[in-house]
Amino acid sequence: MEFDPRWLLFVLPIVFVLGWLASKLDSRQWKLEQRESPKAYFKGLNLLLNEQQDKAIDAFIEAVQNDPDTSELHFALGSLFRRRGETERAVRVHEHLIRRGDITKADRDRAQHELAQDFFKAGLFDRAEAAYAELRGTAFEREARLALLSLYERSRDWAKAADIAAELEAAGTGSFSGRIAHYLCEQALVAQAQGHADLAPALLEQAQRRAPEAARAYVLQGQVLLKAGQPELALAAFTRLLAVNPPAFNLVAADCAAAATQLGRPERAIALLIEQYQRAPSMHLLRALATLQPEPQRERLAAHLREHPALSAATDLLKLNASALPADEAAPMVKALETATKPLLRYRCAACGFEAAHYFWQCPGCLNWDTYPPRHVEEL
Ligand SMILES: [Zn+2]
Repeated sequence: MEFDPRWLLFVLPIVFVLGWLASKLDSRQWKLEQRESPKAYFKGLNLLLNEQQDKAIDAFIEAVQNDPDTSELHFALGSLFRRRGETERAVRVHEHLIRRGDITKADRDRAQHELAQDFFKAGLFDRAEAAYAELRGTAFEREARLALLSLYERSRDWAKAADIAAELEAAGTGSFSGRIAHYLCEQALVAQAQGHADLAPALLEQAQRRAPEAARAYVLQGQVLLKAGQPELALAAFTRLLAVNPPAFNLVAADCAAAATQLGRPERAIALLIEQYQRAPSMHLLRALATLQPEPQRERLAAHLREHPALSAATDLLKLNASALPADEAAPMVKALETATKPLLRYRCAACGFEAAHYFWQCPGCLNWDTYPPRHVEEL
């Protein structure tokens, strides 16, 4: 077929118009894509996936600068900074969000909550306290109060911690009686350390009223009275402890024996120690008993060993029988057993496993309260 050049007069304008339309459509689509997902986001994401966090942060900062209205990206960046310990940058991001006039109240409260966490993480407790206080009456009030409680505990501000715990209790966040009793005990210890021992008894009685079954206030009360030369009253406090919280009596077995000895009435402590031993045998009780009644400790230890093969009972029994062995054999054997027993005579946090020779009411590892059973690791 022969080509007719007249066709071009028709086809060329149509092709031109179609081409122009297609180019318009393409550039619109391209602009839309550019607006919705700028290159910087992809660059940041790519770097993040390649574990190049520093470069990823720079790319995200660039994206935020190009698109300052994106609050979600600000939140993501702020939280990334805080997790990496760059709290100063996290604070800047969250303060910028709070200052912005175009975000919702919910987002502003959220930014305030994030900012408070930044200050807390940075150890700026005064500023964290003020930032959390701003969250009263918002959806973050409960979280803010719990964070304030933890903040006051860390800064050992027991009076403020007690106020916040009472507020949480009133708001229906469960019972805080046990914690409040601990705060009162802590206040009693502070009063004593600062030379105001006269304030301690009232605080401890208040603690006992707040949490009648919590052991600590009775333990402290007995120990304070014993130190003050009032063994009769100390013994009364230990007797009350045995009634309200028998397992914790282990912690005062030695003090109880000392109080009865001071009083010249060893039989009173012997009765308490035997009563608890029959209920829950332990080496705490047996060793206290031995200070008051040396006989028949050998038989008691042998009987204990048959039921509870504890290394510390074997050590004590070996010490009692040492005279029957050649001196150059007995001493090294006792030493070897004592070395092996030492790690077993610790207390262990049931929540985190932190072990210590000292008994803690608040675990120094996980900061939980009342997580140490009042028994040595050997007897758990
Ligand atoms: Zn712990």
